[in-house]
Amino acid sequence: MPITTAPYIGRFAPSPSGPLHMGSLVAAMASYLDAKVHLGTWLLRIEDLDYERNVEGADMAILASLQRCGMHWDGEATWQSRRLPLYAAALKQLQDDGLVYACGCSRKEIHDSVVRANVPKGGAAVYPGTCRHGLAPGKTARALRLRVPQGADAAYAFADCWHGPQRQDLASGVGDFIVRRGDGYWAYQLAVVVDDGAQGVTRVVRGADLLDSTPRQLYLQDMLGLPHPGFLHVPVVNNDIGEKLSKQTGALAFDTGTPAAELLASALLPAARFLGLDVRADNTQAFWRQAIPAWAQRLAQLPERA
Ligand code: GLU
Repeated sequence: MPITTAPYIGRFAPSPSGPLHMGSLVAAMASYLDAKVHLGTWLLRIEDLDYERNVEGADMAILASLQRCGMHWDGEATWQSRRLPLYAAALKQLQDDGLVYACGCSRKEIHDSVVRANVPKGGAAVYPGTCRHGLAPGKTARALRLRVPQGADAAYAFADCWHGPQRQDLASGVGDFIVRRGDGYWAYQLAVVVDDGAQGVTRVVRGADLLDSTPRQLYLQDMLGLPHPGFLHVPVVNNDIGEKLSKQTGALAFDTGTPAAELLASALLPAARFLGLDVRADNTQAFWRQAIPAWAQRLAQLPERA
């Protein structure tokens, strides 16, 4: 489907695996600024479906940190764990269309067959399609996988606003991927697509660690009859830069007792600098007043303008 021209809706979708840190603050800031520049809506969605990685209280800590930074979301925040029927309905639709099959492979079996197939060391473990035509005798169903298109239809291309043209062949790049895990948890790829669709998200702004998930999400959107949003992936705060930032500025201080000036110096200004924004404010309000036009300027320098 073509990119939608509906009114701008963006979102920040943190996983509550810990408090907000420099990496997630950068993603939050970019998606917030992008929504503001487009006079759009900015939603907040807690992605808490990986129950083993959830840290108790991290969701509320993230919400409080965003508020302290002056990033106020529109409407009520949502939690994926409260939206499970939506994912079940999407799975049913995919199953009805014959796109889903049960997989009985363990991680080790996949790894071993990938190694046997001579995939270069360090290459991603592409699912070799072992259970595509049915479970081998004696195997028990674990995860549910989505069939990806083969041959000429396998390529998914899109223009990322920050990184420019992207392309991935789903068959050779990832293979049939998991939509419901062996432990019964909903897979990130399915849930994120269902929610972005249900919430009318028109532009996804997030960290570049998810750049290579995007073709899978575009494919899922096509299979579920959902429009494609636009995508902008901001660089990930890697160790070097993270260390540099924290050396200069100390740990992120989001506690309610932390003076606003310290929050500005230790969190907001370094995150803005990381995004290439020239902001020199001495209080939080002035920071956002300057950061919004600075983001508009930054967008104008990117490979794919929007
Ligand atoms: N929940 C994901 C994370 O915290 C982000 C998902 C997304 O923005 O699509 O890394």
